[in-house]
Amino acid sequence: MTSIVNEYRSGRIVLPGEKLCIVEEFMPGSGVYERNGTVYSRCVGRVLYDYCSRKVSVIPSPYKTPIIPKPGRIIWGQVYSVSDDIAVIRIFRIEGAKALSGTFTGIIHVSQLSENYVRVVEEAIKLGDYIRAKVLTSWSPYQLTTKNATLGVILAYCSKCGKPLWRRNTILYCKACGNTEKRKISIKYMLSE
Ligand SMILES: [Zn+2]
Repeated sequence: MTSIVNEYRSGRIVLPGEKLCIVEEFMPGSGVYERNGTVYSRCVGRVLYDYCSRKVSVIPSPYKTPIIPKPGRIIWGQVYSVSDDIAVIRIFRIEGAKALSGTFTGIIHVSQLSENYVRVVEEAIKLGDYIRAKVLTSWSPYQLTTKNATLGVILAYCSKCGKPLWRRNTILYCKACGNTEKRKISIKYMLSE
């Protein structure tokens, strides 16, 4: 006998491609699709977990053009976690758009950080850095790239003293403690001499 571990809450906003549950928990209703036993949302809308019929549906959002990341768009985000080959980004802005319809997660693979070879993620970006990146996919978590001179780190803080780092050509340095650090720096880096 299996028991449902997760508690599902109806009414929250979900995005296309967002995982909703597995088919053993709720069968696919409208506005969703199933792949390999997992049910995903097909559209932007509010999720409805119906415990009577054991179906999950997504009621499309009344907003015709929700502001969500799309392939080709430029986003601003902050590095949320890093491993050797993946960085997770909290996306908080889409350039040229007013406000995001929710919060979004992006992922950058180490091979997408730079035109040059990067061995591990921390050679190019570090935890807490603010980055400018391009969106590659239309589903969450959004795959991002910083492979372009205008993309990469736009603001970073000194890992020794926590003060903002300034850009001097291809390196970042700390005016407070003299520390220098390497990043995949965008030419749009906010603090430069
Ligand atoms: Zn410092």
